[in-house]
Amino acid sequence: MNQHELIDKLYKNQILSQDEFVQLINNRDEDSQVYIGQLARCEADKVYGKDVYPRGLIEYTNYCKNDCLYCGIRASNSHVNRYRLNQSTILETCHQGYDLGYRSFVLQGGEDPYYKDELMVDIVAAIRKDFPDCAITLSLGERSYKSYQALYNAGANRYLLRHETASEEHYQKLHPSSMSLAHRKECLYHLKDIGYAVGTGFMVGAPYQTAENLADDLLFIKELEPKMVGIGPFVPHHETPFKDMPSGTAELTTFLISILRLMNHHLLLPSTTSLGTIEPTGREQGILAGANVVMPNLSPVSVRGDYELYDNKICTGEEAAECKGCLSRRIESIGYRLNYCRGDYIE
Ligand code: SAH
Repeated sequence: MNQHELIDKLYKNQILSQDEFVQLINNRDEDSQVYIGQLARCEADKVYGKDVYPRGLIEYTNYCKNDCLYCGIRASNSHVNRYRLNQSTILETCHQGYDLGYRSFVLQGGEDPYYKDELMVDIVAAIRKDFPDCAITLSLGERSYKSYQALYNAGANRYLLRHETASEEHYQKLHPSSMSLAHRKECLYHLKDIGYAVGTGFMVGAPYQTAENLADDLLFIKELEPKMVGIGPFVPHHETPFKDMPSGTAELTTFLISILRLMNHHLLLPSTTSLGTIEPTGREQGILAGANVVMPNLSPVSVRGDYELYDNKICTGEEAAECKGCLSRRIESIGYRLNYCRGDYIE
């Protein structure tokens, strides 16, 4: 099958075999990129129109007990200026976001044992109380079923936990031996079972990644049926073992965004900050390839530079209001608009 036939088959069946995905990825060229991008954008338009949903991202701690080899805030990086936001700062940040129009908040952080269940439940309950009309998304890494359940009961609706890579062998190359793909997947199924709208995802161009790995990622996503999939290029951080590894490309990232859109027309698909970091118009390209979510930074400016997962991360200097203006201009420049609603998955 040639590229057009493979893309047509994906369009029709919303899935391909492992071999076919590998072929589609390996043989991609400008022509197939344009073809799949148009189909994908067209399907996103049918479900979500010209709307792009903004989520206010609050990076509430950069302490982390894990030592993922790719991540700038890994435990063994002693050069990080570590910070934690307390409950009142987090709430104040949400209030600022709400006043700017945000109705969807994402709390993300390293895996920080300081935020035990009771504290995290208090924080979520306080946000829920002040903002009954907002979606609360958590991205706190791996926790117990009991913990996920308590946070859900306190008012969290969504949870982002990228599987990172669906190949056990590849997972081990990116993580210390204390971590496992099996546990990561178990967490994802627990979250789903509890009733969260679940998001997963992976880095594009992660060290040692092959087209077979990416095909496995796509097949795992088909099996999990998440409501959200966050993918962005790997970008090296100078204080990690992967400091000399090359970044992923915008070209492969947008190609995969289009594939994901054709696998599920309803998916919430962010055009990520890392995509905007490797290319000035990366986020716009992501939207045009089929993405429909952006995650502007709401974290207090004083800590933004310290949540450095990778080098040269954009948007670390501006106030939330400036970020909002910059992003809406960018989205409008390509014919789309930011819609400040909760931005739920449309069934
Ligand atoms: N501790 C949470 C949040 C992790 S940060 C968790 O474990 O889920 C969110 C995502 O950033 C990660 O899942 C990872 O895919 C991505 N990330 C980390 N380091 C990166 C890097 N160097 N380049 C690009 N993305 C990175």
